[in-house]
Amino acid sequence: MQILHPFAGSVQQYAEAISDPDRFRPDHCPQCQAKQPLTGHGFYRRTLVDPAFDGVIRVRRYLCRLCQRTVSLLPQFALPWLRFSLRVISLFLVARLLQGLTLAAAARAASQPAMPYQRGQFWIRRFRRQAPALGVALGPLAPPVTAPDFVARALAMLESIGWIAAHRFLFSELRAHLLGWPPFLAPQGWRTTLVPARPAPRGSPHSICLEPARPPALGLGRERKNLHG
Ligand SMILES: [Zn+2]
Repeated sequence: MQILHPFAGSVQQYAEAISDPDRFRPDHCPQCQAKQPLTGHGFYRRTLVDPAFDGVIRVRRYLCRLCQRTVSLLPQFALPWLRFSLRVISLFLVARLLQGLTLAAAARAASQPAMPYQRGQFWIRRFRRQAPALGVALGPLAPPVTAPDFVARALAMLESIGWIAAHRFLFSELRAHLLGWPPFLAPQGWRTTLVPARPAPRGSPHSICLEPARPPALGLGRERKNLHG
């Protein structure tokens, strides 16, 4: 199971912060609700591309001694199963879909050196599919928006709320992926539609994702090999 790590600094600062297992240790198990702090259980590694970083980051794992399941603390600047950070993805989508830049110019606006714009086309397809549901799901967090279509509306809401805050809300409260779960993670029973929910109370220490059971072959430890963009 993944929960979001509420870290707000740079990728480099994140790397230093997670060296201390006590600093963000969950004080209970989000899976069995055992009321005892979880035990440090090492890390897994995944790649990440951010405007100022391109490399491998560590993601801290904890173990619940009671139910023997692990919890990993995915940094909130990353989206599950995507190699590029939320910052790069949001810069690209805004540049292309809101500001109307060409694909190549949007790629340059999102990262230096410019990311492959073909990657951005993949995000655009996913975002277009997801936009109507995003507009509904993010309703409780954003002021009313007037926009010509679903894509513009969802983008305006994300800009108003903040992409990371929106991602935290979607992932923690609705088990939803900002760009939609990729098809291989949407088997029968996987929640694929978004519904509105109430936002988490301000100041809650961790955002909890009650992620449905994932097929064993797609375990978190293999995430590095399976990032799709
Ligand atoms: Zn547990």
